[in-house]
Amino acid sequence: MSGLLSVSDVHVAYGKVEAVRSVTLDVAGNEIVTIIGANGAGKTTLLNAIMGVLPLNGRVSFAGGDMARMDIEDRVAAGLSLVPEHRELFATMSVEDNLQLGAFRVARAQAARSFEHVYTLFPRLKERRKQLAGTLSGGEQQMLAMGRALMGAPKLLMLDEPSLGLAPIIVADIFRIVTELRRAGVSVLLVEQNAIGALKIADRAYVMELGEFVLSGQASVIAADPRVAASYLGFEVEGAG
Ligand code: ATP
Repeated sequence: MSGLLSVSDVHVAYGKVEAVRSVTLDVAGNEIVTIIGANGAGKTTLLNAIMGVLPLNGRVSFAGGDMARMDIEDRVAAGLSLVPEHRELFATMSVEDNLQLGAFRVARAQAARSFEHVYTLFPRLKERRKQLAGTLSGGEQQMLAMGRALMGAPKLLMLDEPSLGLAPIIVADIFRIVTELRRAGVSVLLVEQNAIGALKIADRAYVMELGEFVLSGQASVIAADPRVAASYLGFEVEGAG
């Protein structure tokens, strides 16, 4: 397993309130890692801190480099990308222009390859490339947000609740695309409240409660853990006491 992202003893606070406490996590190349946990557990805070949107205490290294002195743009250039929970698209710009914005730092030849890659993953976006982003369905907007993040050819894509508010059939499509990304050599750090779906596609998982990781391991093992089943999967594992 080659380490790509390594987070060690990270704390993030809003004023005096610590929202993330002593979190240690790693993501290897070609790996899907999920963080599951209830509303308010600190998942979004952790992703934002890794991206550099929020300050943190602790160590984060990415692709062998220490990120402490890197601003957000440097992190993007190093191959880290975040699709935020609220997608943050430019509603009055076309699909294509939104994608173009995701490629503003990359050379023209790479941008052309990225367009091809994104349109292959999301044929819907190609069909709607002239349409304004604000007129897309929720699922299409999520796909556009992911597509825009992929335009910079990241090594690691961090997804914050991609399934939020979407119909089950669209969620299945998004999860399938996440597995395709792994096949294409992109690692994914997936934050989800849809624990069942996330654990099905992930290689490894961390369970977060009140700012801390309380459990971690192979996704299949976590999915079979009686505590996880009772708290996050909505059922009891047989024989669990
Ligand atoms: P959700 O799924 O609702 O986004 P989450 O697991 O991502 O939940 P966070 O959004 O990271 O959790 O929130 C973690 C804690 O930090 C919560 O107690 C939340 O109220 C608090 N918090 C989040 N943002 C801020 C902020 N800007 N200022 C103060 N406290 C905040």
